[in-house]
Amino acid sequence: MTERSSPSRASYREIDLYAPDRAPSRIDLSDNTNRWGVPPAAQRVLSNAATEQVTRYPDLYASALKRAIAERTGVPLRRIVTGCGSDDVLDSAIRALAEPGETIAGIDPSFAMIPLFARMNGLRYQGVPIDERFDVDPAAFERANARLIYLCVPNNPTGTMLPRGTIDTIVDNARGRATVIIDEAYADFAPWNVLDLATTNDHVLVVRTLSKAYGLAGLRVGYAVGAAALVGEVEKSRGPYKVNALAEAAAAAALAEDGDWVREHIRLALDNRDRLSDALRERGLDPLPSASNFVLVPIAGAARISTAMRERGVAVRPFASLPAITPALRVANGDALRISVGPWNELAAMLTTFDSARDACA
Ligand SMILES: *Cc1c(COP(=O)(O)O)cnc(C)c1O
Repeated sequence: MTERSSPSRASYREIDLYAPDRAPSRIDLSDNTNRWGVPPAAQRVLSNAATEQVTRYPDLYASALKRAIAERTGVPLRRIVTGCGSDDVLDSAIRALAEPGETIAGIDPSFAMIPLFARMNGLRYQGVPIDERFDVDPAAFERANARLIYLCVPNNPTGTMLPRGTIDTIVDNARGRATVIIDEAYADFAPWNVLDLATTNDHVLVVRTLSKAYGLAGLRVGYAVGAAALVGEVEKSRGPYKVNALAEAAAAAALAEDGDWVREHIRLALDNRDRLSDALRERGLDPLPSASNFVLVPIAGAARISTAMRERGVAVRPFASLPAITPALRVANGDALRISVGPWNELAAMLTTFDSARDACA
């Protein structure tokens, strides 16, 4: 009998738990969720939860939710797959659409979960740098010889868009070689989206979530759109019963009935984002141009400042070692704070706390 030094899968030992500082704060602007709350139709479903929804298993593959997504987006049902948050959809897609040992190439910096999902599924992750025009070189994706390509538009944590022309070129170059996964977690806030690419190409998967503009992060609901053959494989990899019954019912209600509420709060978020960016510029800072509901502001010592802010009851998300894609990021040695946009009273309190934390760290 062979002796085992560890009970776990060898490739998992060096993977850390995903554990950003999530201690409760009086004002939490760290995770880009909807600070205005839950939309009314979803709230009604949750308040009226029925015994049947809890004691019975949910629908295998969330068909009522798929119908609501089809209605809202105009995409046919057979092109939709859902999941327990878009994290689940992304993880399932990476598992379904590449073999262990293959490469996923993604823009850098981007969503921290992707390199983690890559390793959990035995893939190599290769970053392709965002340049000073917030663009990437499509040829770098070709050179990576990747089975999967990950783009995030608008991108987290930069908040920036890739040019549509670049996305089109990457998609065209990948045809017959790689599947392009485009994460649109923040598309609701953006001036344009690329959902059309998922309905006109067989190798493009557009992934979305109800965690941000729709205010349902705690329910964990996400979905993807792509060719029927593609989403079918993702659905197998995802497995049955992943969207719980209450989440499915609330999300379907939100998609069907809460459009006005969502639009109104997107408008407020964009107004407050611009006001926040102005307030940061008045402080001599140079936030990146955001197409989303958060702002990335380069500042040296971001980790220490964010700790001092947390001690004062306000949570924002610190980043370190970001590539120097703007002069301000270079000056800050890659340190930055990502601040979610919420109601102005929260942002005003955040700014006061930021000022005192910055003074304390000076
Ligand atoms: C928040 C976020 C998600 C959404 O995650 P859920 O699992 O749907 O809550 C996906 N991608 C990016 C880039 C995000 O920032």
